[in-house]
Amino acid sequence: MTSEEFRKQAHSFVDWMADYIDSAEKYPVKSQVKPGEIFQSIPDQAPEKGESMDEIFQDFQKKILPGITHWQSPNFFAYFPANSSYPSVLAEMLTATLGTQCMIWETSPAAAELEEKVMNWLLRLMGFPEGFEGVIQDTASTATLAALLTAREKATKFRINEKGFNGHEDFRIYCSSETHSSIEKDVKIAGFGRRSLIKIPVDDQLRMRADLLEKAIQDDLKEGYRPLCIVATLGTTSTTSIDPLKEIGPISEKYELWLHVDAAFAGSALILPEFQWMIKGVENIDSFVFNPHKWLFTNFDCSVYFIKDAKSLIDTFEILPEYLKTKTRGQVNDYRDWGVPLGRRFRALKLWFVIRNFGVTGLQEKLRYHLKMAQDLTRIIEKHPDFEILAPVPLNTICFRFHPGKVKNKSEPDRLNQLLIETVNNTGKAYFTHTRVNDKYAIRFMIGQAHTTEEHVQQAWRLILETAEKLVR
Ligand SMILES: *Cc1c(COP(=O)(O)O)cnc(C)c1O
Repeated sequence: MTSEEFRKQAHSFVDWMADYIDSAEKYPVKSQVKPGEIFQSIPDQAPEKGESMDEIFQDFQKKILPGITHWQSPNFFAYFPANSSYPSVLAEMLTATLGTQCMIWETSPAAAELEEKVMNWLLRLMGFPEGFEGVIQDTASTATLAALLTAREKATKFRINEKGFNGHEDFRIYCSSETHSSIEKDVKIAGFGRRSLIKIPVDDQLRMRADLLEKAIQDDLKEGYRPLCIVATLGTTSTTSIDPLKEIGPISEKYELWLHVDAAFAGSALILPEFQWMIKGVENIDSFVFNPHKWLFTNFDCSVYFIKDAKSLIDTFEILPEYLKTKTRGQVNDYRDWGVPLGRRFRALKLWFVIRNFGVTGLQEKLRYHLKMAQDLTRIIEKHPDFEILAPVPLNTICFRFHPGKVKNKSEPDRLNQLLIETVNNTGKAYFTHTRVNDKYAIRFMIGQAHTTEEHVQQAWRLILETAEKLVR
């Protein structure tokens, strides 16, 4: 491809991109294809000769788009969002064009220094005290792995890095029964073994019970185990419950345990003064992760990891082969030592573009709008005699179910609600996912997509009502 042709194609792509976002709600939100359909439609052999961009793009529209679930649709109410935004996309265009590999400072000083600056912006915005440093990771799963490995190495004076486990350490890691599955995955990868992960029961608001946490630690100490780390969650994936850091923090301090906070989704809310209560107890936090790629309008991937003792992180991951030695070492941040991968994308650029273009107040307004829509809808669902809210709504995810009076059988509501969201999702007009709350099948209505307005929420709610009525008629 020549630069002339690139110029022509890129301009027409940008037109397509703007049209796509303007009309994203016209697509079926959840892709309606059957398993294997897309795979079948693509030739088994790679082309011998280069094909024209026009042909390739036609196939993108014809074969790929039908198999896309439209996360940028305002009718996306599933999971947590994976929001993009215009400034973020513009930055990604530049990032892809520069194609830099930002493993160390020298491989692009601007990337390293912008990352450090933007992390400091976020730390201040989110109300963290002095002493923390930040680094961008790909995902929260990887950031939590970094936290567990750092906790492990710090506690053993870097002995496991040196000699391996040898099956000697009986570490214990604590989280709540509502904690995200990535913690268990990370515990396995870090070599602790799944049985080292102790899931503490939750209270009636689905928050970790601090009293039971302390009791578990004491019992483990008596039995000769070695408590290592607590993983607290701000905004659990099922219901966005918020573990009480104020009570958990002092326990981590008393027993000298690493305190990692997983705020993958809810972390964004910390830029709102009215949500600062979530990090009361911040002084006890050792590490913290949140995903701007969920609810801060920065397209996937961009996960932010804050750590109090950055030196222990670097000591855990540092490698120094001859070909990566530089004279600037020690004066600058070489982020390859701050996590698992060596190679790194220039992710700070999009975050910088987003924060500057929205402005702090712009971001705050957007979050408050989502939060208000969710609170308003919660009031409406609460008042409806045939629906019940199944969990508190501290943020913008509502867990509820359809439970009309005439349904008496205990397992019937589960089946009914499953059918309800399947039917709704098959219309392509809205997309919801589910969870279980106290063993009840619950519909999750997450209001956090960047383009969602009150009208979309109202339409989606009406769709649920109409579908529900038809199911029991
Ligand atoms: C989404 C989520 C994760 C996983 O995030 P990734 O960035 O995809 O690894 C972890 N914890 C919580 C609470 C989440 O909501």
